[in-house]
Amino acid sequence: MTPGLDEARLELHQAGFCVFCNRIVVRGEDGSCEAGHPAEGIAGRIVLADGQEPPALPRFNLAAFLLPMIWGPAHGQWAGAVFLPLWLFADSIVRSAAGMGTAGRVAAAGAVAVTLAMAAFFGRRADGLGWRRVCDRVTVDEWAARQRVWAVASVPVAAVLLGAAVYFNTVILPARGM
Ligand SMILES: [Zn+2]
Repeated sequence: MTPGLDEARLELHQAGFCVFCNRIVVRGEDGSCEAGHPAEGIAGRIVLADGQEPPALPRFNLAAFLLPMIWGPAHGQWAGAVFLPLWLFADSIVRSAAGMGTAGRVAAAGAVAVTLAMAAFFGRRADGLGWRRVCDRVTVDEWAARQRVWAVASVPVAAVLLGAAVYFNTVILPARGM
């Protein structure tokens, strides 16, 4: 067998992250996704043994969901920073809703629900978009292990931030007559 054929055989067994599928897929001969998405939308070249399934990224990133404004910039996902003004906006609506009756409470609940839904979407996409940037030097297993540390650390940090926000809104502001 010629070396050229060996290389061609290897090409058939590579996997990468497809942004369209939001998961790691087996690449075709031309580098495209098995679902037909172009090679430009796929990052990483994981070499698979014969019949080996491609590794799977975590399905949900808790730290990206709870702390998108910290997790995002730390992983080159600057869209995460957008959540800081979003949460401040939701917070200000919740605060002013108290004096606005039912309509105010509906608006406040809506603002919180929309922000939570967007954060959940970010959490579902975060592992793929984040790993994509470092796929040439971080394996899927290393990425998953690192994100478990982020997840464990994000819960107390989010709890402290939420507690501080509640304390600010229910104790500090009323004490100032606001
Ligand atoms: Zn695809």
